[in-house]
Amino acid sequence: MSATERGLELRDVRKRFEGANAVTVLDGISLTLGGGEALAITGPSGSGKSTLLHLIGTLDRPSSGVIRINGAEPLTFDDTELARFRNREMGFIFQDHHLLPQYSVLENVLVPTLAFGGGGAGTPERARELLDRVGLSERLDHLPAEISGGERQRVAIARALVNGPSLLLCDEPTGNLDRHTATAITDLLFELHEQEGTMLIAVTHSLELAERFPRRVELVDGKAG
Ligand code: ADP
Ligand code: MG
Repeated sequence: MSATERGLELRDVRKRFEGANAVTVLDGISLTLGGGEALAITGPSGSGKSTLLHLIGTLDRPSSGVIRINGAEPLTFDDTELARFRNREMGFIFQDHHLLPQYSVLENVLVPTLAFGGGGAGTPERARELLDRVGLSERLDHLPAEISGGERQRVAIARALVNGPSLLLCDEPTGNLDRHTATAITDLLFELHEQEGTMLIAVTHSLELAERFPRRVELVDGKAG
């Protein structure tokens, strides 16, 4: 991958948590993903899936190694540059929706557009359009407590996409949903990933979710197999 090419590259990424319970969780992970491609990262509980997703999402720093996203090396950025980069380029979807309970559906989707004085891709028009695409145009003024679990995850998807990120990062996105709802949310994730041309990375121990991905890597003993 060249320095300017769209996509993700990890080279020999290691993560060791220091302290009394020091543990090497990731022991040299290398992988590349082209712009707009999808990847599932699997492995049993405790294998380092969430740790790896946090590193890719620039929420945490590796102990060593290189991470390149669309030709940029976010680990070289200062904190302000990094926060701006994350806000523009990354959409996060967690097992728990992490919506703000006091804000409406529409307001929750608008939150990422408010950072850094706006000026990015995210606008109120785009928020409404995304909520329409996830099937929630009739729920704009509802509070998170007033909608179902599947609907809350739909809001989280719209929020993750509002700034037009190049990378959509999901941590067990269907983990709290019943099977039928999980399938619907997975369908929606793939539909939007294709329409928006974002890279899609999901970490999961669900084989049912992982099987939907054209590419999978498994974490075993801190290495990507
Ligand atoms: P997974 O998402 O695959 O279940 P995690 O990435 O959450 O796994 O955790 C991998 C391992 O790293 C676990 O053994 C966990 O105890 C350890 N770990 C995660 N975060 C920390 C931390 N902040 N300090 C020490 N150990 C940690
Ligand atoms: Mg995890």
